[in-house]
Amino acid sequence: MRGFGSDELNRRGFLGSLGFLAGSVFGGQRLLGATGATSTKQGAWMGKITGLGETGNVYEELGLTTVINGQGTETVLGGSLIRPEVKAVMDLAAEHFVVIMDLEAAVGKRISEMLKLPQGYGAIVTSGAASAIQNGYSGILTGSNEAYIKQIPDLTGMKSEVIIQRAHRSGWDHQIRTAGAKLVEVETVEDVHKAISERTAAMHFLNLSDPDGQIKRGDWVKLAHAANVPAFLDAAADVPPKSRLSDYANMGFDLIAVSGGKAIRGPQCTGLLIGRQEIVHNALLNMSPNEDTMGRPTKVGKEEIVGVLKALELYLAEDQAVLDQDQWQQLDMISTKVSKIPGVTVTRDVPEIANHFPALQIHLDPARFSAKPHDITEQLARMKPSIVLTEGPNTIEMTAIDLQPGEDKIIGDALARVLMAHSVRPA
Ligand SMILES: *Cc1c(COP(=O)(O)O)cnc(C)c1O
Repeated sequence: MRGFGSDELNRRGFLGSLGFLAGSVFGGQRLLGATGATSTKQGAWMGKITGLGETGNVYEELGLTTVINGQGTETVLGGSLIRPEVKAVMDLAAEHFVVIMDLEAAVGKRISEMLKLPQGYGAIVTSGAASAIQNGYSGILTGSNEAYIKQIPDLTGMKSEVIIQRAHRSGWDHQIRTAGAKLVEVETVEDVHKAISERTAAMHFLNLSDPDGQIKRGDWVKLAHAANVPAFLDAAADVPPKSRLSDYANMGFDLIAVSGGKAIRGPQCTGLLIGRQEIVHNALLNMSPNEDTMGRPTKVGKEEIVGVLKALELYLAEDQAVLDQDQWQQLDMISTKVSKIPGVTVTRDVPEIANHFPALQIHLDPARFSAKPHDITEQLARMKPSIVLTEGPNTIEMTAIDLQPGEDKIIGDALARVLMAHSVRPA
């Protein structure tokens, strides 16, 4: 199997690149034998697809409406779109068997080098940030003890409590409890001192809740280390900026969970567990492919493991300023179309933590519209393709991180049309 250099792409010209695209769009089945079609050197499918996929839109074939995604990297909408080059590399990964534990080790080593993680840190690929949380906690609780690995979530003999700020309990801690740990809620530093005992296994921090809790992330790490327990950070949606992939390790967090299928644009079912080599390794012992483990259902396949590594490589090479610029341009297009409508004002910002990319808030004066934001977003969602935006009490909000070229115009036109239809004169 040869690689696919750009020279070769040029030499093969249009047909070559068409094959490249077809393979990346339609998956990596290798064609064997007598159906008359050919396969490229990359193993990309060149045959005619019959049955599912024959129209080129599998979702419509299944009776579904595809979505123009103005919400951003939401798991319920499919995470993000994998870059064609990543799909091509996933096809390559699908062509061989490999020892998964060795693959995890090799990919983890590559990730550590790419991110320039501090000495003693490593990484593994999990089936999402939620999986990184569950398996990370399993690793903290069991260590490398085989009997414990088989025993959890029964924590008899193990530490059993994880300290968390009350303000950080916003729906992302189920996986800690799944691993068997009991959450101990605190609010103040004083509470932390009282909560720490020989049962304390770790201290958990939900990064996006940093502004809501009394104890900030830097102090949280210090408190954990003073108590001699690991500090765990859920930073699932905290890239961009890319620097955050190593910042939190440099800050001292012992384990960090990151989504692979959000802004990094890896496969939706991937995540990274970054952290102290030993705990990361113990997390891996607790998950697929290892049998009789808590994390056996959190399988991540060889194609996805390689896919998120490639996605990370491409993501790190990207110029964030250019990406932001493109997104602002798309949002400006929408803003221009709707801000002319009486009763509409538009603001824009970039959230500081979590989903740190351009966002637009379209404020609707309730006196000037006969419909609420909820009714308007519902109406847009019922269109074909469905347009999915976020609603607030008096706002409609959106990002452009997942918009494809031309979709800004579709959204702008549709939104302006719907807003105009509900426009009323002031009494
Ligand atoms: C998205 C998200 C997760 C879950 O990540 P997955 O990669 O979808 O498993 C966990 N925590 C936070 C804060 C998130 O935003």
